[in-house]
Amino acid sequence: MATVTFKDVRKAFGTVEVLHGVSIDIEEGEFVVLVGPSGCGKSTLLRMLAGLEHVSAGEIWIGDRVVNQLPPKERDIAMVFQNYALYPHITVAENMGFSLSLKGVKKAEIAERVRPAAEILGLSHLLDRYPRQLSGGQRQRVAMGRAIVREPQVFLFDEPLSNLDAKLRVSMRSEMKNLHQRLKTTTVYVTHDQIEAMTMADKIVVMHDGRVAQVGTPLDLYDKPDNLFVAGFIGSPA
Ligand code: ADP
Ligand code: MG
Repeated sequence: MATVTFKDVRKAFGTVEVLHGVSIDIEEGEFVVLVGPSGCGKSTLLRMLAGLEHVSAGEIWIGDRVVNQLPPKERDIAMVFQNYALYPHITVAENMGFSLSLKGVKKAEIAERVRPAAEILGLSHLLDRYPRQLSGGQRQRVAMGRAIVREPQVFLFDEPLSNLDAKLRVSMRSEMKNLHQRLKTTTVYVTHDQIEAMTMADKIVVMHDGRVAQVGTPLDLYDKPDNLFVAGFIGSPA
């Protein structure tokens, strides 16, 4: 577990600034949801935290380190995207252990780490299957399993449920919350879905046009929206 801090972070693509000084404090073990309309800068913020985009100005901290210049693999984070492509030609167990095998972790130890992760995710009976033999929800769980076996300090999720059908999305929300309650890993979860944010977050960061519009618990935002944008977006009666 680690804290994550954004200090006045800016991002420009060419001459166009898309994030205009974003500051966010995330506590150890917190489940924070970044929510806001499409194009407001959520993915860019997450990609900078993961080290997949350069930071134009400001600082990003993970624990007690400024990570602005640190390559992704040294940041001790695991990211799950919406397009969680699994390797089709290897089994579920091999998919889950793949990043460990790249790091040179021994087969026996990989198996030791895959087993409990598979159990948490209800995948134990599917470890020898291939991705094509799984349902959409099972594949998404394998993608989460890949992140879990790495035992990172921080999980990053970018709209991980948006390719699933509505019913599955609802059940996966509570599965992900249960998972967080067991592992207590600091989590930054991006979605454009207000209901997902309201039901999953310890703390919600509402973003609007490259800025933070408000930070608070789901109840705070619903009861005391700071402005009309937040009220309208969250759907509270301001
Ligand atoms: P969100 O995830 O909230 O939908 P993004 O972070 O993907 O938003 O995008 C924020 C803004 O940055 C958008 O206006 C988008 O067009 C722009 N943007 C994102 N990535 C790039 C890029 N690689 N080059 C130029 N503009 C980009
Ligand atoms: Mg996005």
